[in-house]
Amino acid sequence: MSGVEASVVTGAGSGIGRAVAQRLAACGSAVALLDVCERGLAETAGSIAAVGGRAVEISTDVTDEDSVRGAVERATGLGPVQSVVACAGVEVTGTVPEMGVADWHRVLAVNLTGVFLTARHGVPALIAAGGGAFVALSSDAGVQGASGFGAYCASKHGVIGLVRSLALDHGPQGVRCNAVCPGFVETPMADRIFAVSPPEERERWQRLVPLGRFARPEEVAASVAFLCSEEARYVNGQVHVIDGGATAGYFEA
Ligand code: NAD
Repeated sequence: MSGVEASVVTGAGSGIGRAVAQRLAACGSAVALLDVCERGLAETAGSIAAVGGRAVEISTDVTDEDSVRGAVERATGLGPVQSVVACAGVEVTGTVPEMGVADWHRVLAVNLTGVFLTARHGVPALIAAGGGAFVALSSDAGVQGASGFGAYCASKHGVIGLVRSLALDHGPQGVRCNAVCPGFVETPMADRIFAVSPPEERERWQRLVPLGRFARPEEVAASVAFLCSEEARYVNGQVHVIDGGATAGYFEA
């Protein structure tokens, strides 16, 4: 990466999005940090500035088209946008009959429409820069079902279909589009999920991972950074699963 390029990261105020922003900044990119959570944005920006990186906080709601459009416009002021990473997401649990309709709409609005709007405004910015990479966070719940996560799963399966179609439409314009599918990652999202389940649940899920633990946000960020880099210049329309082997087959330690 050259020192003048810019990146856009949604969900940059926490967890995986923060780690991605830190990683892209460490690679020399000026990073536009987008999130609804201003406190989280300030923490991420502070951590990047502390090590000499360049980042700009842009309060953004990915479900609101004007908000996303304005944020991407501001990001283009940092330099040619060569990476757009859609990490913003929310979790909703419950079986379909239990779940409120409002929760269904909320998870699709953030996790799927949010990626759509990020691509709708981010991809033209990448084309204007002469090409680049769009990466969206899906999940292992994007490649298989997950009991009690029907709405979340539907949103993450949707992200994969969207990304594959983006890859076909925009590959010819020099924009590579890929999805990253982590299993559980040690972030505030995972903490919230396990905070409302029995204490042994976290351990039970960890036993299903052949590597014996959940991912760290930095490990997911490394995959995202690879997909954004020149090293991945022939990778397009792919689903990159990073789950310690959990979806490779039946396993319990
Ligand atoms: P997190 O809760 O730590 O961070 C998510 C961020 O998204 C937060 O900063 C939040 O403020 C932001 N956000 C939520 N709604 C938003 C909106 N409308 N507009 C802008 N920002 C918004 O979660 P995380 O674990 O870092 O998750 C990042 C992504 O990775 C999500 O898409 C999630 O579904 C996916 N993922 C997470 C895990 C996991 O176990 N943590 C596993 C697989 C996939």
